[in-house]
Formats: sequence, C-alpha cells, structure tokens
Amino acid sequence: MEKYVSYVTEQIVNLCRTPSPSGFTKRAQRYLIDALTSLGYSPKLTNKGSVLVNIGGNGPGLILTAHVDTLGLMVRAVKSNGRLRFTHIGGFPDNYIETENCTVITREGKEFSGTIQLINPAAHVRRDIPDVKRDDTNMEIVLDEKVKTKEDVEALGISAGDFVALDPRTVATENGFIKSRHLDDKASSGILLGLAKAVKAEKLPLTRNIWLLFTMYEEVGHGGSSGYPEGISEMISVDMGAVGDDLETDEYKVSICAKDSHGPYDYDLTTRLIQLAKEKKLQYAVDIYPFYGSDAEAALSAGYDYKHGLIGPGVAASHGYERTHKEGLLNTLLLLKEYITSPIL
Ligand SMILES: [Zn+2]
Repeated sequence: MEKYVSYVTEQIVNLCRTPSPSGFTKRAQRYLIDALTSLGYSPKLTNKGSVLVNIGGNGPGLILTAHVDTLGLMVRAVKSNGRLRFTHIGGFPDNYIETENCTVITREGKEFSGTIQLINPAAHVRRDIPDVKRDDTNMEIVLDEKVKTKEDVEALGISAGDFVALDPRTVATENGFIKSRHLDDKASSGILLGLAKAVKAEKLPLTRNIWLLFTMYEEVGHGGSSGYPEGISEMISVDMGAVGDDLETDEYKVSICAKDSHGPYDYDLTTRLIQLAKEKKLQYAVDIYPFYGSDAEAALSAGYDYKHGLIGPGVAASHGYERTHKEGLLNTLLLLKEYITSPIL
C-alpha cells in the first residue's frame, strides 16, 4: 500500500486547500465527486450533501466514513468601524486563530481576505496584550479593504451570515510530515480516496460490500446522522487519532479508539481491529479520547443498528495548526485494507 501514500498526500493537500467550514462544503463535495468518478466509481450526493459511494464487494455491508467539513467562522455582525464580529463554526480556543489570515465568502460568491486580530493589537500601543482573554468580544476580523464604517463594508456585499474560511497553511515536508489546519478530518478523507484507488487497482478480495460516506456536518455534531444505504451492519468512522497527555497515539501510528466522551465502541469490531493491527505488525495504539465524538456515534444516536468503530491517523495539536506524518497515513490505510479483506467472524 506504500505506493498509494503519495496519492493520499496529494488528496489531503488539495482538500485542505479547498475551504469547507461546516455549512459551506459544496467545493469539497465537488472535489470528492470528481476524484471518485475519475477512479471509476459512481458517487452520489445525499440531500444534506454527504458523498456516498459503493466501492464493491459482496456480503454484509460495511460503511467507512470520514468528514470533510471543518472548523471555521461566520460573520456575526458588521461593526460601526468596519471590522467584523465573528461566531465560531465548531469548537476551538480563540487563541488558535489569533493573527490567522482568513477569507470572507459572501452569499453572492465574492471573496475578501482579512486577518483575525485582537482588538487594538499593537504591542507598541498596548501593554496588557498577554492578559486579555481571547474571545469574540476582544477579537475581530480586519478586512484587507479600505473600509472605515459599517456602510463601507455593506457596500462590498458583506453581511451577517457570510462564511469565513481560515487559512489552512498546508505544508508537506520532504521527510513526510503534513502540517495544516483541518487535517481533522481531511487526512482521513484522503486515506479513503487512497483506499478506493487501491481497491480498484489491486482488485482487493473484499469480504464485505463496502461503502464510503464523506460527511459534511461532523464538526457541528450531526454529520453521520443520515445518508446510509440499506444492508449496512458495520460502520467504521475514520477520523483523526487524538495525541497528547497520557495517550499512546502519535503522528506515525494508526489510532484505535476504545472509548471517547460518548462511551465505548463496539467490543467485537474494536477487538478485531486491534487483532489485525497486532498480526500485521502495524504501528498502532489503542486509546481513550477524553473530549471527542464521531460520526459513528451520530449514526447510533440517530437510531442505526450498527456495530461501530473508530480509527484514524494520529493528528497532533488538534483543532489548531495540526500535524500528521505519512507513516500514520500508511498504517491507517493498511489497517483498513486488512479489515475490508478479513474473514467475517
Ligand atoms: Zn474529526
């Protein structure tokens, strides 16, 4: 599977550079539809914009999901001085977006660049900068436009309800690191595209009927709540592995989640994933993610009767400027390949 890692990396870089905060994901949907179509598949869009595709195999249905929606902002109000107040899309600390460049995308499709700054941010003018609480009352978007009043901004066509995409600052280093915002969960979306490519090219002997679902509202909680075909009995959310504190996952491993904030994952499915990782001598870790929810849990909460699991590449500094490594991508790809070709127990 090593030979698919460069394709996976290319997809991740392209997806990271495609803005898709939850609620504004049409460009990412188009990207996925085109990528899957060029691999020879027939993807479909659900009503809420998830991308669903069957990649072959017979037997019981297994669905693998990843989300391409990301964190972002929305214009909450245009201020009298021509600055923008924002509201969050998804959850993250405000110091993770301080001084970040961003793009305001109007409902008419016009785009304006800007920067997220503390109000009155000059260190030569203000002494208490380290002590100010970072939140939407003390921070604002400064547009790269000559605007001084609310009316100036409105004349550009910007108003409350416009989406704001954060600059992902995507970098792939020579030695295999990928640094970017939104590797959660564009790293896994790239991995699923790589898996789809490998299934076709290698004619992998699938032991199940395999579906992929790319969801669009995971960061706001309901991405995986709908859009499933008939006949599914197992679901694996492929989403970032949490890194930090007492967790064993790092950027080089595939992380198998035993439990997150919503509770434990299916016993048999999770145990099987651990067995396969062990047998194939993959770099892996089994972890508990303390502050985390997944599309699999959204599906179960919505009433689907599935065995559910969660795996993904280790992603450091999650919901900030994130980092993973090609080894983590490869180990995740290998575990998925083993699972979709493993006998049904
Ligand atoms: Zn995620």
